[in-house]
Amino acid sequence: MAIDEVVVIENSSVLHDEILVHRLGLIPLKTDLDSYNLPEECPCKSEFGCNLCRVALALDMEAGENTTTVYSQSLRSENPNITPVSEKIPIAKLAPNQKIRLEAYARLGKGKNHAKWQPVSACAYKYLPQIRINEKKCDACGKCIEVCPKKVFAKTEKRVEIQNILECTLCKDCVDACPQNPPAIEVSREENSFILNVESTGTLPVERIILEALNILDKKYEDFLNQLR
Ligand SMILES: [Zn+2]
Repeated sequence: MAIDEVVVIENSSVLHDEILVHRLGLIPLKTDLDSYNLPEECPCKSEFGCNLCRVALALDMEAGENTTTVYSQSLRSENPNITPVSEKIPIAKLAPNQKIRLEAYARLGKGKNHAKWQPVSACAYKYLPQIRINEKKCDACGKCIEVCPKKVFAKTEKRVEIQNILECTLCKDCVDACPQNPPAIEVSREENSFILNVESTGTLPVERIILEALNILDKKYEDFLNQLR
C-alpha cells in the first residue's frame, strides 16, 4: 500500500506540491492485504475508491516560532493498522509560520506500475555452495582458513571443518591456497538449489511477500494454460 493521490489544501513550505507529494508516495506503509482490494478489482468500480480499496491519511502541521521538521508520524491514518513503517521519516522542513495541510489516499498497487509499491528493498540469490574436503589429503595446514574472505572454515584439533557454508561466494581462493596437488578442497555448487535473500521495506513480512509472489506466478501460469486451451 502506498499513497497514490493527495489533495493539497495548503502548502506554504519551500517544497513544491509535486515534490511534497512524491515524498509522501515513497513512505512505506504497513499493509493489510486481507482487508483491502486492488482498486481495479474492487466491486465499487469508483475512481475515488471506497473503504475497501482506499485509506485516507491527513497531515496538518504548522511551524510555531522555530523551524520544524515534519515527520511521517504526523500523518494521521483513518485505519490504525495502515501507518508509516517508521515514525521518523522526514517529509519537509517548515520555517516559522509555514504550514502544510493535506489529505492523502493510500491504495494497494504493484511494483510493476510504480516503485513505491515494491515491498522489497533488496533481493538477491546465489548458488548453494558445495564444499568437499578430502580428509586423506588434507594435513590441516590452515592455509584455506587464512585466505577465505568469508571465514567459511574453522580448525578443530587436527582437521579443517566447514562452519558456515552459506557464506561461501564460490571464489575458490581456498582451492588455490591449498598446497596439495591436486588440492584437497573441492568447491562447486549444488544443482537446482539457490539461496534467496529478501529484505522487506517493512510493509509486509518477508514470508508473506514470497507467498504472494508465488500466488501471482501461479495465477499467471493458470491464465497461460487457459489461453492455450
Ligand atoms: Zn472500492
